[in-house]
Amino acid sequence: MTSPYDPDNIFAKILRGEIPAHKVYEDAHTLAFMDVMPQGEGHTLVIPKAPSRGLLDAEPATLAALIASVQRVGRAVRQAFSADGLTVFQFNEPAGGQTVFHLHVHVIPRREGVALKR
Ligand code: IMP
Repeated sequence: MTSPYDPDNIFAKILRGEIPAHKVYEDAHTLAFMDVMPQGEGHTLVIPKAPSRGLLDAEPATLAALIASVQRVGRAVRQAFSADGLTVFQFNEPAGGQTVFHLHVHVIPRREGVALKR
């Protein structure tokens, strides 16, 4: 059982425009912005606008919109950073490594031989 969604999480504040973000893509259902502590050049976060805490409580329609935006943003950052590949990952709950409790997907363009930070 996961905790309920907390509307005061930092990504909800970004969605409401209460704190700034370096936005790179937005549509009716999703938003993408640069990670403030990038693990690699071009590290981008893609989030749904729907209030989902993580993968496990998200509606199927939310996930469909999210993965479509992940693909779109992934293609764009791969091209923008002339990357050789792409790393995509997502954490759930503190035990799973999650620190911000609004569903988000990490998208990081990758170069051959260049390791991620952390
Ligand atoms: P996770 O919850 O472990 O998947 O990671 C949350 C991610 O959000 C980390 O990579 C943080 O660097 C990033 N992050 C935290 N606060 C902000 C912010 O205000 N803007 C952009 N990224 C953030």
